[in-house]
Amino acid sequence: MQPLTDRHGRVATDLRVSLTDRCNLRCTYCMPAEGLDWMPNDDALTDDEVVRLIRIGVEQLGITAVRFTGGEPLLRKGLVDIVRRTKQLEPTPEASLTTNALGLGRVAAALSDAGLDRVNVSLDTVRREDFARITLRDRFDDVVTGLEAARAAGLAPVKVNAVLLRGINDDQAPELLQWCLDRGYQLRFIEQMPLDPQHGWTRSMMVTADEILASLRTAFDLTDASKPRGSQPAEEFLVNGGPFTVGVIASVTRPFCGDCDRVRLTADGQIRNCLFAREESDLRTALRAGADDDEIARRWIAAMAVKLPGHGIDDPTFLQPTRPMSAIGG
Ligand code: SAM
Repeated sequence: MQPLTDRHGRVATDLRVSLTDRCNLRCTYCMPAEGLDWMPNDDALTDDEVVRLIRIGVEQLGITAVRFTGGEPLLRKGLVDIVRRTKQLEPTPEASLTTNALGLGRVAAALSDAGLDRVNVSLDTVRREDFARITLRDRFDDVVTGLEAARAAGLAPVKVNAVLLRGINDDQAPELLQWCLDRGYQLRFIEQMPLDPQHGWTRSMMVTADEILASLRTAFDLTDASKPRGSQPAEEFLVNGGPFTVGVIASVTRPFCGDCDRVRLTADGQIRNCLFAREESDLRTALRAGADDDEIARRWIAAMAVKLPGHGIDDPTFLQPTRPMSAIGG
């Protein structure tokens, strides 16, 4: 076993696996209404290739947690099987899913049976009209159904991730929190990052963690949940003294790169050592050229060693990565 260590002493143990770049929503900050130029089918890893890379990560490189994402991972036909095969690996990794929950109502039980541990559901508003306005699809009820199915299937704790957008839902933080508290879901707000294909992100338009917390404090008493944050990106707060909590992931205003333990595998088999990396390491070509597990592991280790100390959003020379969030795996 050789850990995925970088030159700054960080060790990657948390693998984000994108299973597709496609999505069935069109969240305006993430994807244009007409969609994007989807990855050609031949470029995408097959189920066997995905599982092989996860196996190498788990067996040889110290990966202990695997999160499936996309695009929308529920659109991947082989998802349940990929989860099952991941959970059969030794040592068994934790497996979770980041999803918009469309269709989760139908597969939550099967995913749980396959060994999935948890889900994070993305939901930016609990107002039906605003949901349709943000996602360009009138599917709020399906998300509610998906969330309920996740809870019923024991995929706990069910977490909800929300992005606030200025002038659209930035006044809805307390309402979102109350909605989640009423249903036992754990809410986390994520600062919007410069990863949109339209390159429309500006720092002044982004709703900051401080603004989110100030808005929540108009309705709730928040106290620091005072667990060491470690590599967990969310700062957690007890709501009205607890036991329920709310989290804020301040990737932009309070970056946590020094504690980052993540590595990403795109749906076309590229290793990215950072969400904001401008370079990738192509494992798919090596894999299809017949590289053995040790060779793949060596390439993966080399890709991680050069991880930069920080994402550099505040650096004047910052350049947004070529791939948008949906093609990297959020
Ligand atoms: N389709 C799945 C979902 O909806 O959770 C997984 C992929 S989606 C890209 C993952 C998360 O990234 C969602 O919660 C979405 O809100 C978030 N996201 C997309 N673009 C973002 C951005 N520029 N900054 C912060 N979060 C973003």
